[in-house]
Amino acid sequence: PHWYSPVTGIYCSKHPPVDLPSDPVDDVASYLFSRTADDGSTALVDSLSGSSVSYSELRSLVQCMASGIRSMGVSQGDVVLLQLPNSVYYPVVFLGVLFAGGVVTTMNPLSSVSEIKRQISDCNVRLAFTSSDNCEMFKALDVSATAVPEDVCYGSRDCEFVDFRMLLSRKFESFQRPIVKQQDMAAIVYSSGTTGVSKGVVLTHGNFIAMCELFVRFEASQYEYPSSENVYLAVLPMFHIYGMSLFVLGLLSLGSTVVVMRRFDPNEVVKAIDRYGVTHFPVVPPILTALTRTVKCSGGSGLMSLKQVSCGAAALSRKTIDDFVRTLPHVDFIQGYGLTESTAVGTRGFNTEKCPRYSSIGLLAPNMQAKVLDCKTGSFLPPGSGGELLLRGPAIMKGYLNNVDATRLMIDEDGWLHTGDIVHFDQDGFLHILDRVKEIIKYKGFQIAPADLEAVLITHPEIVDVAVTGALDEESGEIPVAFVVKRIGSDLSEEAVVDYLAAQVAPYKKVRKVVLTNSIPKSAAGKILRRELKKLLTSRL
Ligand code: AMP
Repeated sequence: PHWYSPVTGIYCSKHPPVDLPSDPVDDVASYLFSRTADDGSTALVDSLSGSSVSYSELRSLVQCMASGIRSMGVSQGDVVLLQLPNSVYYPVVFLGVLFAGGVVTTMNPLSSVSEIKRQISDCNVRLAFTSSDNCEMFKALDVSATAVPEDVCYGSRDCEFVDFRMLLSRKFESFQRPIVKQQDMAAIVYSSGTTGVSKGVVLTHGNFIAMCELFVRFEASQYEYPSSENVYLAVLPMFHIYGMSLFVLGLLSLGSTVVVMRRFDPNEVVKAIDRYGVTHFPVVPPILTALTRTVKCSGGSGLMSLKQVSCGAAALSRKTIDDFVRTLPHVDFIQGYGLTESTAVGTRGFNTEKCPRYSSIGLLAPNMQAKVLDCKTGSFLPPGSGGELLLRGPAIMKGYLNNVDATRLMIDEDGWLHTGDIVHFDQDGFLHILDRVKEIIKYKGFQIAPADLEAVLITHPEIVDVAVTGALDEESGEIPVAFVVKRIGSDLSEEAVVDYLAAQVAPYKKVRKVVLTNSIPKSAAGKILRRELKKLLTSRL
C-alpha cells in the first residue's frame, strides 16, 4: 500500500498532511485565541450550577490571570503547579500561566504530601494553584499557593478566594508580553514511559499547537457539522494529557462548548447530557461500562443529543464495545490512542456506515509516522505483523526533564519514540493494540508506575524486597499487586502493607492485593524480571 514503505519500514498517515503554523507564532494560548471568535458564544459551563464563561470572557480572564501571575513574581520559564479538580477555572489558570510565559505542571488533586513534595522539587515549582484545603500545606512547604474556587465566583463574598479574585481583577496592560517560541517549554506532565519512576515529560508550545491541529482540529474537519455547535462533556481529568489536550486546549481552538464536570457520577452524566444537549463525550473504558449500565437501567431511552462517544487511555474488550453500541445505536463510537510523551497524538478511529471499525484504535494522525519492530530481532514489520509501535512527528515530546538517559531510552537517535505498546496495522491501515511490554499499570485509565510504588514500599522497616505488577481486573482494567519479602521473623500482614502505601500515595495508586513471598525474580544484574512476575501472579491468584 502507498502508506507503507517495505524499504524503510515506515508507515505514513493515510490522511493528507496538515500545514502547521510555523515560527514565529506566539505561545499556544495566543494561538487558541487566533482560531476562535471573540464573542458571546459559550466556551465553558459548570455542569452542576449551569454558570458559564463566554469566549470573550475567557479571553479577558486569561489575560487578567496572566497579569496577576506576573505580579506574583512569576517570570518567563518559571514553573507553576496546578493541583486542581476539573472546573471552568482550570483552563483559565492553565492558559493564564502560558500567556504570562510560565510553564505549567499538573498533578492529581488527591496526591499525597510526599508526592507533592517530590514534584515541587523535581521541577522547581514557583507558585501553586490548589483547592482551599491544601493552601496551608503548600505554605508549609515554602511554596506560595492560591486557592481556586470550584465554581464561577463573580461577586462571591467568600473570603477564601480573595487572592484568586484579586488575580482576576488585574489589568492586562500592566505587563510586557514575553517572546515565546514554539520550541519553548509549555508544560511538564508526569509519566514513567516504558520503565522506571515517574518523570517530567517536557511538552513545548509547538507540541501543543501540533496536537490542536493534528488531533482535535483535523478530526473536527472530517465531519460535516460545524464544530462550534459541538457540546463536549468534560469528565476526564484535565491534569492528565487526555483531558488536557481536549478540554484545556484543543476544543477551545474550535469554538466548541465544554461542559465541565467536577467528578464522575453516571447518573449526573446522563442528566448533564440531556440538560446541556451534549453531542460529544470522551471517555475511558470504566466510564463507558458505567454509561452503558446506567442507560440500560433507565430503560435505554434518551441521550438523543449525543452524536459521538470516543474512548482511549486503556484497552477495551470487544464485549464492552458491543454492549455500548447495541445500547446506544444512534451514537458513533470510536477509539483513540496516544501517550503523554506524544501530547496525546497517535491514532483516531473513523467509522463509515458500511464498515464500522469499533475495535481498532484508528488511523495514524496526519503528519505522524510509525514503525512496527519485531520484539526479538528489532527488524521492522509489514502490515499484518505484530510488534512494538514507534512514533515520530511534531507532537513527540522534547524529552524528560533533566534526564538525558531516560530520554535516550525512549527516543532513539532518529527521533522515534518507543511506545512500549504491541500493535499491528491491518491491510487498510487501521491500527490494533495487541499487548503492552512496558511496566506501567493502567488503573481506570490512570497510569501507575510500579517503580514509584516499590520506592515507597521498600522504605518500610519490615520489608526487605518488593516488586509491583498489574493484574487484570474486569472493573478497572488492571489493579496494582505487590509481591513483598518481609524481614525474617516479622509478622507484617498484607493489610499493613496496603495501609502503609495508601498513606503515602494518591488513592488510585493503592495496591489492591499483596502477595507475601520468599524472593523476587531478578536478573543476574539485579533487575526485576517483570515477565516472570506476571507468570507468578497468574499461578498465585
Ligand atoms: P498515558 O501517557 O497515561 O496517556 O498512557 C499511555 C498509554 O496508555 C499507551 O502507551 C498505551 O499503553 C495506553 N493506551 C492509550 N490509549 C489506548 C487505547 N486506545 N487502547 C489501549 N491502550 C491505550
